[in-house]
Amino acid sequence: MTYNAGRLGEEMRQLILYQFSGGVHMTNETKILDGKAVANRIKEELKTRVASLKEKGVTPSLVTILVGDDPSSETYVRIKGNACELVGITSKKIHLSEDTTTETLVQTIEELNQDASVHGILLQHPVPSQIDERLAFETIAIEKDVDGVTSAGYGQTALGFGTYPSCTPAAIMKIMEDYDIQAEGKHAVVIGRSPILGKPVSALLLNQNATVTTCHSRTTNLASHVQQADIVIAAVGKPEFIKGDWVKDGAVVLDAGYNKGNVGDVEYEAVAKKASYITPVPGGVGPVTIAMLLKHTVDAAEKTVQ
Ligand code: NAP
Repeated sequence: MTYNAGRLGEEMRQLILYQFSGGVHMTNETKILDGKAVANRIKEELKTRVASLKEKGVTPSLVTILVGDDPSSETYVRIKGNACELVGITSKKIHLSEDTTTETLVQTIEELNQDASVHGILLQHPVPSQIDERLAFETIAIEKDVDGVTSAGYGQTALGFGTYPSCTPAAIMKIMEDYDIQAEGKHAVVIGRSPILGKPVSALLLNQNATVTTCHSRTTNLASHVQQADIVIAAVGKPEFIKGDWVKDGAVVLDAGYNKGNVGDVEYEAVAKKASYITPVPGGVGPVTIAMLLKHTVDAAEKTVQ
């Protein structure tokens, strides 16, 4: 589905461009990838699916585990909890103290694995340094790994039959799908190779027949790689790191970065002038990431009644 001028009307399109551009002049061709709208459509569909599950006596349930008192993590967990409630998913938060041991955390996760009323488990990253985070992630049962953090989940995603890819890569692919942006035959350049973002999104793009270059902190001549890209995925965690003159005219730019001051990893003003499509920050990848978490939880709940 393409959200072009014909569909929305030119006036509406200009209004949307203005609202998300922050006053930036963009070419007539630049289209904003409106993550909020994508997320709202997903949530509306989920409300119906949740109602149908409730008629069968099943209420989808997501448990979030927060270890310690990191304010950003607390905010993320609260936002996810509120989003759950909005679509009718039960959300329970387990808050463990800063000095929690790996053993206690692993035991908590094992108990949730055994609890049939729990469909999804999310361990909020990062955990305090004394905890073996990888071991804790690996403890999550694959059928409840709605955040796509286990190595089994990652492996399945990479092989092309993953049930729940990490939510941000899933969000990026969902945005492209909704705007009818084909990856096949395109050169996608991903900047970042983290286990929850850069690596899985590279795998998902490859599975859709893109030619993928994955860049990282040891990549030399980063700008020259980005200049080759039809599709740019920014997943670095550095504010406005991707510069306008790195991006070729007409590239599709999806910015997963979210940094202090509500800015992404892309130098938005300069890049928006050249891109054919671009995600705003905020209002781009972020809202869809949360919507995908909700979707995965509902998918997991549905599997228990099939
Ligand atoms: P991360 O684990 O810190 O990974 C950052 C990646 O960027 C690493 O692979 C690193 O390379 C690479 N990098 C760092 N400096 C670089 C440089 N100078 N040139 C090229 N690559 C460089 O971060 P993350 O968890 O993937 O998150 C990335 C961003 O996405 C953050 O802004 C985060 O807040 C955001 N995020 C957003 C959502 C959402 O819902 N929208 C969800 C998750 C994350 P090395 O591997 O070589 O160190």
